[in-house]
Amino acid sequence: MKSTFDINNLVRPNIKNITPYSSARDEYKDISSDEMIFLDANENPFENGVNRYPDPQQIGVKRILSKCKKIDEKNILLGNGSDEVLDLIFRAFCEPKEDNVITLPPTYGMYSVLANINNIENRKILLDKDFQPKVEKILSTIDNQTKILFLCSPNNPTGNSFSEDKVIELLKKFNGLVVIDEAYIDFSEHEGWLKKIKKFPNLIITQTLSKAYGLAGIRLGVCYASEEIIKILNNIKPPYNVNELTQQKAVERLRNYEDVKNEISQLISERKRLKDELECCVSYIEKVYPSDGNFLLIKVDDANKRYNQLLEYGVVVRNRTTQPLCENCLRISVGILEENLKLIRALKAIQ
Ligand SMILES: *Cc1c(COP(=O)(O)O)cnc(C)c1O
Repeated sequence: MKSTFDINNLVRPNIKNITPYSSARDEYKDISSDEMIFLDANENPFENGVNRYPDPQQIGVKRILSKCKKIDEKNILLGNGSDEVLDLIFRAFCEPKEDNVITLPPTYGMYSVLANINNIENRKILLDKDFQPKVEKILSTIDNQTKILFLCSPNNPTGNSFSEDKVIELLKKFNGLVVIDEAYIDFSEHEGWLKKIKKFPNLIITQTLSKAYGLAGIRLGVCYASEEIIKILNNIKPPYNVNELTQQKAVERLRNYEDVKNEISQLISERKRLKDELECCVSYIEKVYPSDGNFLLIKVDDANKRYNQLLEYGVVVRNRTTQPLCENCLRISVGILEENLKLIRALKAIQ
């Protein structure tokens, strides 16, 4: 089936032949030269560190990211958070009022919001009771207008990763795009799907510096895909979508990749400690779900009541009780040691 995969069949007609905006920095790239003066972008010439436009292709960030993640720079696109990346994917491939996408609730809310904004039908197929995709049901829901299947693995808010066999079956049998949102992949033991980009031309992976990398404030999202897909998204992205301060901060952080890894391993061991403590010692917690993320989903006797009680103890968690399959569930981010101790004290105090 994949032998017939052609990305050109999926791109919206108006996007296919688009002439991208050509910025001053696209037309003359080499800004390192000391001999040249730059009078091409109507910038204010008085130096203050950010008076110049940022690199529209974020070469510095891509170079270091490519080393950390062992993937070619040509397979990387950066966005103003993964939310921008996801929006670009919608806009490149989904024709408003005609096409549809498939999402698997309970999951990250942005897929649904972006589908609405772009006027794209969102076919929701609930996960099964183990929070795994219902492969048969998904495949039978697909039609010629189905452009994208969103898989979030590890999934937010359930915390689990999707079975490899199921994902492979979907990648093989669906001739549209499969987006795997790996926002939490660095907290997981699974190596993730990056290495499979060459094998599956319909695979798009999104990641973010907002979670494991501790940079939610700079807004940097990452998209990994075939060179062809990256080119299409590059053509429609806003020219300077990742600002200078963000690029600098990202490079600085990625240079200290060892520090990042160290924080991740601390959070993973805190997650384990927290899970054990919640399972053993808080009577009204009925279940602590396994998690490959930096959060735990717990089922309690009465989520609304416990949520409000925790607030009184100064602890804010996420109440997920209105989400399908998440009745009476709270989602709790793993904090630093002191925060987790405070959480546990509060949970015990309200028994
Ligand atoms: C937090 C999160 C993101 C991050 O989005 P950014 O815009 O990069 O901050 C993406 N996907 C999922 C599933 C998330 O939980």
